[in-house]
Amino acid sequence: MSDNSYNQTEVLIVGAGPAGLAAAIQLKALRPEIEVCVIEKGAELGNHNLSGAVLEAEPLHTLLNSAVPGWQDSTEAREVLASKINKDNIMFFLGRKISFNIFFAVRLAKILRLGFGQMLHRGDYSVSISKLTKWLGQLAKELGVEVLTGFAAQDIILNKSNNMATGVRLVDQGLDREGNRQPNFAEGEVISASFVVLAEGCDGLLTEKFIEEAGLQRQSPQLYSVGVKELIKVSSEQYNKFTSGRVVHAMGYPLWTPVLGPGMFGGGIVYAGVKEHLSVGIIVGADWKYCDFNPQDALTNFKEHRFVKRFIEGGTVVEAGAKMIPEGGYYAVPRDKTGAIGKGNVLILGDSAGFVNMMKIKGLHNAIDSGIQAAKAIAETFSNPDAAAPRYTELIDKSNIAREMKSAMNFRQAIAKYGPLQGMPLSVFGKLLPKFNVEKDYKAMNTARYRLKGDKEFDKDTFTATAATEHREEQPSHLKILDTNICNTECTPIFDSPCITFCPGGVYETVQGEVRPANPSNCLHCKTCQRKCPFDNIKWTAPEGGGGPRYKRM
Ligand code: SF4
Ligand code: SF4
Repeated sequence: MSDNSYNQTEVLIVGAGPAGLAAAIQLKALRPEIEVCVIEKGAELGNHNLSGAVLEAEPLHTLLNSAVPGWQDSTEAREVLASKINKDNIMFFLGRKISFNIFFAVRLAKILRLGFGQMLHRGDYSVSISKLTKWLGQLAKELGVEVLTGFAAQDIILNKSNNMATGVRLVDQGLDREGNRQPNFAEGEVISASFVVLAEGCDGLLTEKFIEEAGLQRQSPQLYSVGVKELIKVSSEQYNKFTSGRVVHAMGYPLWTPVLGPGMFGGGIVYAGVKEHLSVGIIVGADWKYCDFNPQDALTNFKEHRFVKRFIEGGTVVEAGAKMIPEGGYYAVPRDKTGAIGKGNVLILGDSAGFVNMMKIKGLHNAIDSGIQAAKAIAETFSNPDAAAPRYTELIDKSNIAREMKSAMNFRQAIAKYGPLQGMPLSVFGKLLPKFNVEKDYKAMNTARYRLKGDKEFDKDTFTATAATEHREEQPSHLKILDTNICNTECTPIFDSPCITFCPGGVYETVQGEVRPANPSNCLHCKTCQRKCPFDNIKWTAPEGGGGPRYKRM
């Protein structure tokens, strides 16, 4: 420790996603004299940011109007906000060929003021979250924020006497595969700070450690979904036929079909991107039960559906990726015993807090809004950091975030408890019903098989190559199987090693009769394995900074 070079800042933000960068920008607008540093594990801004993504732009406008005069006139603003949604389809797919537009049902729900009525997207923007993040990062730098990419943190450092954070520790550099120190070894530096803002995205490493060490609780376990997505370059005829400014959300096949199953929660998306590019993806609740299920197989089936196929057939996948989404909603927000979303000088933002509104299928606007509220709280409590998390929580509770999270209360829990068929209608009354007790996603797995699995193995090598993921090969695997005995004696005989199937990066393989994370450099940092191993037997740790996917347009 004494050999470390200690760095110091006033406000340290972990994660350069929309939430963290919104906090940095807003704080500089409010108090330009405060030192703000953002660290990001990706090699470049936007590399690790992937999402649907439909953006409800009001919080972004609020942020930029207050911090960046004339922002609308910039080239980046025009590029990021180029695709305003003017056509909104909500579909139900029945089998591989039939589709119904059920938009009228959502309109009706809106008229009746039911939660489902929020599921409308007209007037929002279909954005590349990677490009949005890159732009916000540039704006933050111009305002004087220090934005450091390729900086992966492995620990939050707490003062045990008061649970106040004193900073974070970065990942050690220069270990070989066995963990031996190489001549270039450098112990992870400590960055000390008066405030630590956790904005790591879904299932954040430091966030989850902090929740445990500082004794924060969730009323209900966090539930996740897994999204796999491809950006496909199609012909201009196909793009024009789909039409720019259009988004399609489709329920049913291939995740749910009547009587015969499968019976999973989720759906497919097709979004028009910039000219001749369509985003096609599948988002599936991680409480699936099928031990041989791989979300990428569902993506293949979705792309084969007659409605989708005509728009993408013959197209080229130019980028691909995977991520998890926190879906547990209001009951899964971590709070300390006073109700604070964080504790003392530690604030939890965006997807790390779980601010996704599943009734809207959107969380990006809440992530940005949470960054704005965090900045206000820090600006107000700067001379008394201990008061930051309580003040942040007061602001969140008065904000649109709290209103939305309450409106979608119990939604995901109802579906996890009763399945999509009964759970969806029941969730309409979710706010009025007592909390449903649900289990963590990994407990749902059993020996059932996915009925619609095709004959062909999904080509994971091409998928990871398109995600451009890479890590320095000569470092310890950042995926840890905690007890290989469980794999050999319980999981493989019963479930046939699901991690080998569901990991979108093809990281896990059987080597000499034993399941191992054989290809850690293929990891897409989606964390699915950590939440879906049926024996809770995998730990995702942080690799050296700069590794991982390199999304540019997702
Ligand atoms: Fe099964 Fe988990 Fe072992 Fe993979 S790591 S074989 S999913 S117990
Ligand atoms: Fe995702 Fe885990 Fe596979 Fe990495 S190893 S791509 S985190 S499932």
